[in-house]
Amino acid sequence: MSAATPPLIAVEGLTKHYRAGRGLFAGMVKDTPLVRAVDGISFSLGRGESVGLLGESGCGKTTTGRLLLKLTEPSAGTIAYDGQPLSPLAGPALRTFRRQAQLIFQNPFDALNPRFTIARCLNEPLINAHVPGRERPLYIERALDLARLSRGHELLQRHPHQLSGGQLQRVVIARALILSPEFIVADEPVSMLDVSVRAGILNLLRDISRDLALTAVYISHDLSLVRYLCERTIVMYLGRIVEDAPTAALIDEPLHPYTQALVAAVPTPDPGQSRAPLPIGATPPDARRPTIGCRFADRCPKVMEKCRRIDPPAFTPVEGRSVACHLYGDAS
Ligand code: SF4
Repeated sequence: MSAATPPLIAVEGLTKHYRAGRGLFAGMVKDTPLVRAVDGISFSLGRGESVGLLGESGCGKTTTGRLLLKLTEPSAGTIAYDGQPLSPLAGPALRTFRRQAQLIFQNPFDALNPRFTIARCLNEPLINAHVPGRERPLYIERALDLARLSRGHELLQRHPHQLSGGQLQRVVIARALILSPEFIVADEPVSMLDVSVRAGILNLLRDISRDLALTAVYISHDLSLVRYLCERTIVMYLGRIVEDAPTAALIDEPLHPYTQALVAAVPTPDPGQSRAPLPIGATPPDARRPTIGCRFADRCPKVMEKCRRIDPPAFTPVEGRSVACHLYGDAS
């Protein structure tokens, strides 16, 4: 992103806390643990940029994606979309935002109503956006072409259970693109698919991001996926950003010890390959546990005394990169 070009999305101090527990009244009971799903993160997304949000389960990446799409409201902090704060959006301005910003679901088997035909699934967003009936076939044909699906009557009259996982995910992608959005969030877009069809979906996502100049956030636990799709990667750990860098630099020379562990767990550049175990152990981070100092200290092979006392801020050891780790700060 050029310094003269304002970002499409600017996030400042974004925070999402909620009370853990089950049942309707869990959130109202004071002694249920507070989950710090997202805990004061700041970043911006340039127009046309493809950015990976990378981290283990529980790091806050999916919550961040939902906040960016205004599917949930932040506890604190702000998101500006095209210069406008997202929180107060309502009425026609919110409807315009909903057209411009779309989600590609993780699980195509849950994303489509099983009782609807594919034609009805694709018509739904057009009806919600008040697209006139006579124009809808053109929108549908364009979306099917973008997702490299047949325009034929046969596909449109099928129900979701009659399609393969790969075809279903292409329908989900077609539906996300049907209103010509400028921003997409794709949450683990191939994790529920058979390995044999993943490469085709990854190629499709890479091509549409580039050809439509989409601003895209790809949420994943898989470094090979963000390596394939994203020019920049933001690594999250327990609700915080620990590293933000161009993807190639992040993989060639990971700075944060957590990123180093993620990189060490990827055996080959093949996006279909499964990962090696994390060299820091598989204990998932617990966002309910309050921490003092660095949140990664319990798993960090390079932990120092001050790491347990002082929460590291983001340092900029190299132009265009940031890392929240005392190894890159001053010596105090
Ligand atoms: Fe490890 Fe300390 Fe850096 Fe945290 S601040 S990642 S504990 S070296």
